[in-house]
Amino acid sequence: MHGTIVIESESAGHISSCAEIMSLSSDSLTRALTAGERLQLRLHLMGCDWCTRYAQQVKALRVVVQKHPEWFEATPSVKLSAEARARIRRSLRAPSL
Ligand SMILES: [Zn+2]
Repeated sequence: MHGTIVIESESAGHISSCAEIMSLSSDSLTRALTAGERLQLRLHLMGCDWCTRYAQQVKALRVVVQKHPEWFEATPSVKLSAEARARIRRSLRAPSL
């Protein structure tokens, strides 16, 4: 179990929890983040290894989404079927050409 790291940004005193950051990362798959959200994400990732790893996985997933948008058409909330997950895992393992 990992500890929850909370980072308070200096500007607004807004607290980004890991859960919030994870949902922002997931959101970035389906919509463009605002400048404020991107900053919030970056500030948190600087101090949180766990979310950094999560964000890297999301980034890898985003490449798959761009390659195969049809897999995600019916699942905007990024809840993938087992079949889609298996396809993604295979695609991630395949050498990129
Ligand atoms: Zn975190």
